[in-house]
Amino acid sequence: MENIKNYINGEFLLPLANGWINNYNPSNGEVYGEIPNSSKEDVESAYIAAKTAFPTWSKTTLEERSRILIKISELLEANLDRFAETESKDNGKPISLAKAVDIPRAASNFRFFGNAITQFASESHESVGQNAINYTLRQPIGVVGCISPWNLPLYLFTWKIAPALAAGNCVVAKPSEVTPMTAYLLGEICNEAGLPKGVLNIVHGLGTSTGQAIIEHPDIKAISFTGGTATGAHIARVAAPLFKKLSLELGGKNPNIIFADCDYEDMLNTTVRSSFANQGQICLCGSRIFVDASIYEKFKKDFVEKVKALKVGHPSEADTNIGALVSKSHLEKVKDYIEIAKDENGTILCGGNEVTVNGYENGYYLEPTVIEVPNDDCRVNQEEVFGPVVTIMPFNSENEVLEMANKVKYGLSATLWTNDLKRTMKLSNQLQAGIVWVNTWMMRDLRTPFGGVKASGVGREGGFEALRFFTEAKNVCIKY
Ligand code: NDP
Repeated sequence: MENIKNYINGEFLLPLANGWINNYNPSNGEVYGEIPNSSKEDVESAYIAAKTAFPTWSKTTLEERSRILIKISELLEANLDRFAETESKDNGKPISLAKAVDIPRAASNFRFFGNAITQFASESHESVGQNAINYTLRQPIGVVGCISPWNLPLYLFTWKIAPALAAGNCVVAKPSEVTPMTAYLLGEICNEAGLPKGVLNIVHGLGTSTGQAIIEHPDIKAISFTGGTATGAHIARVAAPLFKKLSLELGGKNPNIIFADCDYEDMLNTTVRSSFANQGQICLCGSRIFVDASIYEKFKKDFVEKVKALKVGHPSEADTNIGALVSKSHLEKVKDYIEIAKDENGTILCGGNEVTVNGYENGYYLEPTVIEVPNDDCRVNQEEVFGPVVTIMPFNSENEVLEMANKVKYGLSATLWTNDLKRTMKLSNQLQAGIVWVNTWMMRDLRTPFGGVKASGVGREGGFEALRFFTEAKNVCIKY
């Protein structure tokens, strides 16, 4: 059994109340470890450790903070295989994906913010004619909470922790209880890199108890959260009367809009990826595909052919394209949506069934599924499925597709495939989304603002936006 502990004040500690939660391996459905079911008291210990570490860490030079963060990045890179194997086993994602994307990106998060903090500057304003100058201090907030989901476990966990630490805060963090393993290993790396005790504390447990204790802690002054929209709304309700700073990165139901003038092969290959990477469990996946009516039948045939060729298999096999879904309950939720789509007169063009992988019969495998929908109002087109399921339907004009693209409660990302400049400019301006990709998907530059509009969230992460979130601006006005 691979049991884990909380990482508090640089030490690996048993939960105070000694409660445990089973950790499942999605590839075979077996329990392979136990994780702490941390209580309010564990969160309080983590908070005290963070609070104690704060006066020194917040005064540590930027060069030293930067050096430690970059050291963490290097150690993650040096341990790529171990981390990738762990992530794949814990989450069900193909090991090839964990090796190529998840772990390298976690390392990049630390390197990027280790460098960014040395370039982060604040403003000054001369009050002309009044003999005064104003300058802005960007001071760390104190103890902050970081809560992340299960789909890109270490990738998203570190996307919050790295800027929080770089800006001089101390952190109480909770990964998803469904995928806690790489967060646990991160504690070891932080010790090896020389991160002072208590600067980062990682508590494991359920969202509704451990997570809840973080969000309602009166002295954890800011919460950076990535997860579902309903959880985000709950956190906002809890945090508002406590006047916490909030960054909420929530769900998505992103349109992938394909015009006839696009580079067809590039579009087709990328659309397979943007539909099914990580079993479709990425908030940025283009789960609603709208295709120019003039190429609809051709696209339908070519796309379905490519999707049928994807190999569903054990995550550790090098040629697996689609691994296991993260949990039994999530698999059931995704299957329910396929039934709902059928009830709403959707046509299953391919997939739709569970897959039995030899030797791993109890794993949570599902065929990549393409559903042709009769209209854009149906539930499978409006609600976040967060699995290997996409819808397709044709459109006849720019205005029609723009209206359909925007007619959901979410607004995280959108993808456009076209070579027409005017159309690109018009639609990029009018799509309700935090990110628009044109002729590409999920190309990330860590300096850019990242986040969503509408029910996809509040605030932006990435680059200096994240450093602004994790600092308080204070204006100093000096009359001379
Ligand atoms: P959840 O909202 O269920 O959980 C996210 C995190 O919040 C987990 O660590 C969870 O703990 C914790 N949590 C749950 N309830 C509470 C609570 N009351 N107080 C504090 N913390 C709590 O999301 P999922 O893990 O299911 O992740 C999938 C969702 O995340 C999808 O909607 C997806 O779109 C979204 N997402 C958004 C991204 C973005 O950047 N906008 C990126 C990736 C995913 P536990 O798991 O232990 O219950």
